[in-house]
Amino acid sequence: MAMTIRRIIPTKEEGFVLKKAQGEFIRNGVTDIKCPRCGKNLVYEYGENWEMTHCSDIECISLVLRGI
Ligand SMILES: [Zn+2]
Repeated sequence: MAMTIRRIIPTKEEGFVLKKAQGEFIRNGVTDIKCPRCGKNLVYEYGENWEMTHCSDIECISLVLRGI
């Protein structure tokens, strides 16, 4: 996975929101939780050895949950 896009590391509180959203993505495939920083939709992506939840705004926050 190319990580050429610079993303912003979330605060502790924002990280909790992203982790909660990730749980909903895994269980339901979707989430109603919005980005705690800007209010846009969140995106969950994963591969064999990595997963991350991030804002749909590429210049906003991103949480890498494992791998990379
Ligand atoms: Zn955002």
